[in-house]
Amino acid sequence: MKLLEGKTALITGASRGIGRTIALKYAEQGANIAFSDLIYDDKMILLEVELKSMGVKARGYASDASSFESSEKLVADVLAEFQSIDILVNNAGITRDNLLLRMTPQDWDLVMNVNLKSVFNLTKCVQKTMLKQRNGTIINMSSVVGIEGNAGQSNYSASKAGIIGFTKSIAQELGSRNVRCNAIAPGFIETEMTAKLPEDIKAKWIDDIPLKRIGTTEDVANVAVFLASHLSSYVNGQVINVCGGMQT
Ligand code: NAP
Repeated sequence: MKLLEGKTALITGASRGIGRTIALKYAEQGANIAFSDLIYDDKMILLEVELKSMGVKARGYASDASSFESSEKLVADVLAEFQSIDILVNNAGITRDNLLLRMTPQDWDLVMNVNLKSVFNLTKCVQKTMLKQRNGTIINMSSVVGIEGNAGQSNYSASKAGIIGFTKSIAQELGSRNVRCNAIAPGFIETEMTAKLPEDIKAKWIDDIPLKRIGTTEDVANVAVFLASHLSSYVNGQVINVCGGMQT
């Protein structure tokens, strides 16, 4: 029996990067996959085809996770198509890095809306379904910088720290109905998000990581499989670091 057989997962921001690998790993474990991204493009179509070829039901939706209205419509559309949502992965995220001196209010608002408000939007929209089912697991993508901060990322770090507070609160609110809520705090993972970092900074980070390598999207997705499955049935309100020991 596969770990997620018969479950439906909704994953935001999944056409590429960590979200994409989570979608593939979940499908490997038998889950049907609804996933979102800002636009319905070739990347979305390709993932849809790849997931379907693995024998599960799959559909990509164009939806802006930072908009409550768009999230409400997304959840309604997914429920109409899949009938249930058992796993929600709030993965969509962006960076707009700058020192505070140069950070604009627009860059602050954008990062807070896409990274943090999105988590509120989607969680609020799926909560009724999960409460009624008396079953559900919510996984929020935080970051190690949400725990220890990072110069040049005050907006991003604040959004990721906010996710942790939200995760712990929702775990307490929904736990009595068997709905769990946990966060993953990845360290330095190889995706388009980190590809834009200067090579010298990357080399320094890798040197500081006890495992002496950059993380892969699979490293994060494997923990997302654990948190979505019954293997983590008594894990609630936790933040799991996936950072090669960068933060201990
Ligand atoms: P990525 O490669 O940049 O992918 C981010 C995804 O989010 C893209 O598919 C993007 O869509 C989507 N997205 C952006 N804005 C959106 C919105 N408003 N609504 C819906 N989808 C939206 O990033 P990643 O590295 O895989 O990161 C995934 C998550 O892990 C993020 O929350 C990130 O903060 C977190 N994380 C990453 C690292 C790392 O080292 N990579 C470390 C810690 C935490 P488009 O393709 O349309 O832009």
